[in-house]
Amino acid sequence: MAQHTAEIISVGTELLLGNIANTDAQDISQMLSELGINVYYHTVVGDNPQRLKAAVAIAKSRADIIITTGGLGPTCDDLTKQTLAEAFGKKLIFDEGEAQEIRDYFATRLHSHQMTDNNYRQAYLPEGCVPFHNDCGTAPGCAFEAEGVHVLMLPGPPRECVPMFRSCAMPYLRRLSDLELVSHNIHIFGLGESFVEDKLRDTMLRLQNPTLAPYAKSGEVRLRVTARARTDGEAEAMMAPVIQEIRGKIGDCIYGIDTDTLENTVLRLLKEKHVTLAAAESCTGGLVSKRMTDLPGASEVYLGGAVTYAAASKTALLGVPAELIEAQGVVSAPVAEAMARGVREKFGSHLGIGITGIAGPGTDESGTPVGTVFVALAAPERTYVRSLHLGHDRDRVRTAAANHALDMTRRFLTNLDVLSWE
Ligand code: ATP
Repeated sequence: MAQHTAEIISVGTELLLGNIANTDAQDISQMLSELGINVYYHTVVGDNPQRLKAAVAIAKSRADIIITTGGLGPTCDDLTKQTLAEAFGKKLIFDEGEAQEIRDYFATRLHSHQMTDNNYRQAYLPEGCVPFHNDCGTAPGCAFEAEGVHVLMLPGPPRECVPMFRSCAMPYLRRLSDLELVSHNIHIFGLGESFVEDKLRDTMLRLQNPTLAPYAKSGEVRLRVTARARTDGEAEAMMAPVIQEIRGKIGDCIYGIDTDTLENTVLRLLKEKHVTLAAAESCTGGLVSKRMTDLPGASEVYLGGAVTYAAASKTALLGVPAELIEAQGVVSAPVAEAMARGVREKFGSHLGIGITGIAGPGTDESGTPVGTVFVALAAPERTYVRSLHLGHDRDRVRTAAANHALDMTRRFLTNLDVLSWE
């Protein structure tokens, strides 16, 4: 199958002025990668027909799929359709079906708005195109083929653009190939991206179909294995030995395949094993609790948490001895362990998490370096603690600390060495 290459042209002066970020291009690129379509360029151009035409001429020379976002609205600076139609020698034709959709949208969804004549401008579409109906707004999108290029036009507002891409553009693009594309995402925690790449470089270089690509995601590494084949079954059969090979090289740092998050994995394991959990958090400010309680049905096994930020709260609420804090420092392994044991006891859970650390940007009076975090897991027989250095960025330190707490829980629940990580 010929490999397709797409270029995204985002139209809008406010993008160039930096008033808004180009999230449409980001989202579309992600969805194109799901389809196995290469994206080599993102272009941003203001609401200016000459410059848009010039951008289209360049895109035509280096991509066989051009996707535009924005400029489909009813106002006079919305020039994408006219400009693209002209660039490909197409007339704009009034589409009665789309006009009726716009009338209906005003009648049912925009009671307080008066429909004006320029709203009908949106019903003009390039001759011979496939209209993309807009369920979340009035501007229809469309796709046509000309000069060996597929042109797809989508509205700018992300709440219109993204659903339209999913419901209309993806099926259109899928039809360009008679092969199925099937992917699996392998989730890894506890190994850095460069380490994973190093371990798998030979495999990645060797593979062409399926392909293997790594990507980092908030403190974890993911690998995507993608196969093209005539049927799903054939694609799965091609991927199975590759996934097996990766398991052999990466081992138990793989916490799931096509699973969403570490917390999802932990929730599933807690339920499977009928084990309950509670968390005492200091520098993470309740992040473990938030992530666990984001999941519906967690109350069955996640009993609750305590944010004990001040040293005195650790003593009052968790029973961490004041002398221990005095002697060891509030950011220390013994305090994390005492927090984990304390929360386990207070909540009556099987397992307790304790997290204490310096998220930054400043250090505390003891001068403990920013990013120092101790994460403990108290189990009936033993309390485990990881001593970590998680960098200098406050958000990253907090996310990574919560990830470690969840990873320790996962490893405990699957009988793996709780203290092993890179
Ligand atoms: P409308 O019918 O709302 O005019 P449109 O297709 O003409 O839709 P634009 O006028 O270009 O779209 O943009 C409308 C709004 O959508 C912008 O003000 C901005 O908030 C958002 N938007 C446009 N393009 C993007 C983009 N590439 N990424 C994120 N948001 C965008």
